[in-house]
Amino acid sequence: MAANGHSSRPGLFLDRLTRESAGLALFLDFDGTLTEVAPTPDSAVAPAGLSDLLKRLSARLGGALAVISGREIADLDMRLAPFRGAAAGVHGAEIRLAPESDADLGAAELDPSALAEIRRLAAFEPRLLIEDKGASIAVHYRAAESAAPRLEAALERYIAAGAGGLRLLRGRKVFEVLSFGFSKAQAVTRFMETTPFAGRRPVMIGDDLADLAAFDACVARGGQGFRVAGELFPASEADFSGPEAVRAWLADLAAQLSYRQEPGK
Ligand SMILES: [Mg+2]
Repeated sequence: MAANGHSSRPGLFLDRLTRESAGLALFLDFDGTLTEVAPTPDSAVAPAGLSDLLKRLSARLGGALAVISGREIADLDMRLAPFRGAAAGVHGAEIRLAPESDADLGAAELDPSALAEIRRLAAFEPRLLIEDKGASIAVHYRAAESAAPRLEAALERYIAAGAGGLRLLRGRKVFEVLSFGFSKAQAVTRFMETTPFAGRRPVMIGDDLADLAAFDACVARGGQGFRVAGELFPASEADFSGPEAVRAWLADLAAQLSYRQEPGK
């Protein structure tokens, strides 16, 4: 599917944008959306020019651009430097409403016993990669896909046996244990209550299950969600063929916004 063709949903959106007076609020997932999915979370690299592109877009949107990721905000900042914008990390458990403000840690860190217990549950397969993100614990199985069913069952039992308050999030080759009450949808909602996002039309671009609720949150406010092809969305059901197509669309969007702001040029 030609993500930038005028027949695609993102292409039509760009066409329509010139006729719309309402501003746009843009929410972007990171892994699998802005960048290719990497074999391990640590090895994900932002392509050259992404930092500049986000900086330009954010400026043209009056700051109404936020990266919403399962990563911690500090991790996003490091990978996107020198760009620093509004952001939500750990699926909304961390929120930075404006570039200059500190991250607002919404979630208490998980109980330290959770990490020890999840390590124990995952010990049957040494290629499982455990990532402690403070407010969540992720277990990546990209290097050991056959371990997924046993791991998932063990994590489900762990969560069911607990006092509640935790949930299991399924992502692309990852299971994540996270507090209830935080989601990418909740992050979108929080941004949309805040200047400069409030009153704009929200658009979220993502590639994973956790992004679906954020799409719904955008649609509920008159906006849209765009799907990026990957392990979850086959190309035939996606709006973008991959991160490269997303970046090309964002560059077109930046150019279009620039034109709208400077009609005399
Ligand atoms: Mg993703």
